[in-house]
Amino acid sequence: MRKFTDRRVNTLSFLIIAVVMDTFATKIVCTVGPASSTTGTICPMIKAGMNVARVNLSHGNRSTHKSLIDAVRKASSITDKPVGLLLDLPGPRIRVGKIRKSSIMLERGAKITLSPGDFEGTQNIIPVDYADLASEVSAGDDISLANGLITLKVDRVKGNDVICRVVVGGLLFSRKGVNIPSRSLKLPAITDVDKTHIRFGIEAGADFFAVSFVRGPDDVRVAKDLIRDNDSNAMVIAKIEKAEGFRRLKEILEVADGIMVARGDLGVELPIERTPIIQKRIIEECNNAGKPVITATQMLMSMVNSPTPTRAEVTDIANAVLDGTDAVMLSEETAVGSYPVQAVKVMSKIVQEAESAIDHRAVIRKHRENLEPGIGEALSLSAVELALNINAAAVVAPTRSGLTARRISRYRCSQPILALTGNENVGRQLLISWGVIPIMCRTLKTAEAIFRKSEEIVLKNKYGKIGDQIIVAAGSPTSPKGRTDIIRVLTLGKSQ
Ligand code: PGA
Ligand code: MN
Repeated sequence: MRKFTDRRVNTLSFLIIAVVMDTFATKIVCTVGPASSTTGTICPMIKAGMNVARVNLSHGNRSTHKSLIDAVRKASSITDKPVGLLLDLPGPRIRVGKIRKSSIMLERGAKITLSPGDFEGTQNIIPVDYADLASEVSAGDDISLANGLITLKVDRVKGNDVICRVVVGGLLFSRKGVNIPSRSLKLPAITDVDKTHIRFGIEAGADFFAVSFVRGPDDVRVAKDLIRDNDSNAMVIAKIEKAEGFRRLKEILEVADGIMVARGDLGVELPIERTPIIQKRIIEECNNAGKPVITATQMLMSMVNSPTPTRAEVTDIANAVLDGTDAVMLSEETAVGSYPVQAVKVMSKIVQEAESAIDHRAVIRKHRENLEPGIGEALSLSAVELALNINAAAVVAPTRSGLTARRISRYRCSQPILALTGNENVGRQLLISWGVIPIMCRTLKTAEAIFRKSEEIVLKNKYGKIGDQIIVAAGSPTSPKGRTDIIRVLTLGKSQ
């Protein structure tokens, strides 16, 4: 059972019992959109447990993106809680163009042509926004429309036109996505539009960029280089949603700062029944690599229209936590749904309950078997085990780059991980790491100062009371950034 589940702290008077707010460790990413565009909605979402706001740049325009970001910032300041900002780049997504009268019914067996251009789609011909489509597909390829709702099979290619048969019919609306699972298209992962988004995002102070349809490490590198060239240290989250991206996960993990299990497109690009096992594999690889992982899409889909979730959704979220995900994500539920606040509340309750079933000892055991060489890893694992054995109140991790806190998070510490950092960006970037609570603190120059400050912060934030023990895991102030080489047990109020 997690130490900080329902932790009650006695203050001076036994009459005053304060309950610490952070009662769960799994992070919640909420997509903001028309249904959550004001502080009136975002503030209660933050209070309910939202840690990171995701702006999906596939929708809206600059002015709506700006006002969403402003609203998130304002809500964060009103609630006095940090909120990370994740900008999700559209990437090389092909879309159909405008459809006459907004939708058409594609009947099974019908012939339909996909053609690049800017015209209104009809029963016979549909515009697509990719000029080279015809040169990248051939007879026999399957083309998926609208997130797998409709399936076409390519009959033949004629000039720029792709002539298809409808295999699975359905209602097609304007601007719906096109997937070609059997092909790795030549389109770059970071398009020219993405580049303008990245510049805008850096200006807006984004903490994370998500790169869509990542196929290999180079796709991540391109984004990273562009971000670094613009003097930002924003983290790059690679979205795994294509077969090739999944196949090259290990290489991608070497460059990416985090991963998203993008189940929406994943379930179209790969056979949908493989999604659960792929999710488990991705999460495990991320845990092993010590990189944060977000499980995304349709987690509470029914709550777009309903105030309560389905049993299957509740089970899915709990299983993602037990798989070892760092964060869970809401998309339409909070962006366009009717119950954005309720969705976050429901999600919080589910993750909190699921966390009580995590076998912390088993996690430690598993990692010990494959421990990476190096003092930092060994010491972080020891800190986590020690905290569990002495039933510590908290683990305090002063961190300049965030690395020490992420190391401790990786071993699924059963105590709150208080990451003391002097850098707000680093603090917000820790908001997708399991169990980490970033706390702003000026840089401490000596080990003694670190110990004193750690005690003070734990007491002040009521993560522990006089007599409780805490663990401090840190890099000595004279060591290079990212080194973790001190471990210390302190008894609150009792150390010299
Ligand atoms: P998207 O990515 O919502 O940007 O498509 C997530 C997913 O595909 O699951
Ligand atoms: Mn996607």
